[in-house]
Amino acid sequence: MSAETKSNESASHASSGQNNHEGELPAYTYALEAAEAKTIGKNTAREATVVELPISVGLAGVSMRLEPGGMRELHWHATAAEWGFVVEGNCRTTLVDPQGRSETNDFGPGDVWYFPKGHPHSIQGLGPGICHFILIFDNGYFSEFGTFSITDWLGHTPKSILAKNLGCTEGDLENIPDHEVYFAQGPVPPAVQAPPIRGGLLDCPQTHKFRMLAQEPHLSTPAGREYLVDSSFFPIQTTITAVVLELEPGALRELHWHPTADEWQYVLSGNVQDTLFGSHGRYRIENLKKGDVGYIPMGYGHSIENLSDTEPARVLIGFNTGKYATVNLSNWLAGNPEYVLSDNFGWNSEVIKKLPRSEVFLAGKGGPIR
Ligand code: MN
Ligand code: MN
Repeated sequence: MSAETKSNESASHASSGQNNHEGELPAYTYALEAAEAKTIGKNTAREATVVELPISVGLAGVSMRLEPGGMRELHWHATAAEWGFVVEGNCRTTLVDPQGRSETNDFGPGDVWYFPKGHPHSIQGLGPGICHFILIFDNGYFSEFGTFSITDWLGHTPKSILAKNLGCTEGDLENIPDHEVYFAQGPVPPAVQAPPIRGGLLDCPQTHKFRMLAQEPHLSTPAGREYLVDSSFFPIQTTITAVVLELEPGALRELHWHPTADEWQYVLSGNVQDTLFGSHGRYRIENLKKGDVGYIPMGYGHSIENLSDTEPARVLIGFNTGKYATVNLSNWLAGNPEYVLSDNFGWNSEVIKKLPRSEVFLAGKGGPIR
């Protein structure tokens, strides 16, 4: 069992013999991949919002799978920016910005996109096979099933208005769907990207694509590694920071908190255990498996431990900030004089001698990497 504390103020819970003071901290995990999907053809979408996971007010997420030629139709979101991470397969996005400039990009595993709030876009599977990606939104109230889809809009607009707007006859527009299509299905798109119908290219000044896992990890130790993307690497990504955390067997992402952001987790592989501390003795431990989501409110203390002795674990994590920060326990303690730690904990100098003098960040199965 990993780190565990008992509340001094809440004897009824502390005496229950449980690690989880469940009356005091709500559930913060959700089995996203076990949830029922919105399914059209072989295209599927599952979401975790405040409806599924009420604590997750700051961030929402979606797991989507597109078959070759399957397209998440032209749409925008009024209330959230979209960050995407490709888990497997290949897809193509097209985005148009408010200046009418557009960008088309192809994505493979480990690549990410960022679409600013309100900018219209589409996503289409390129094959071979299903394309699976995770979307993270910087608003927990955002629902992928409440987006502004082009068929939903134009299907409800009088044909006379559309005809006047587009220079067509009402007869030309007879076949517009009268309901939201959401997933459209086409053949596999051409291998070479096609220009927009206006002709030419008016490239957006900032790209919407970043090859996250093609970079070197920003941190690498025998206990694991972390890939990070924020606006310093990917300038358009101003409201999200994201990491892929890889934990070797038994490794621990040390106790820490984030002063400027909530945290949304998706387990890409393996089995991990989260701890969460919410002050006033509120403490809860949860196990997550592949496909599960976790949510850590801003400022709450937490850790992530790989429960396996043999298998690595990988966790995709998004933060709703462009200015990511973390306060790690090892740094906090190492920044204090010995007498302060002694007064606070009653530790003698022998114990204090053992404490890390530099940031642990990832501890190995047997403790900090010295
Ligand atoms: Mn979208
Ligand atoms: Mn964290």
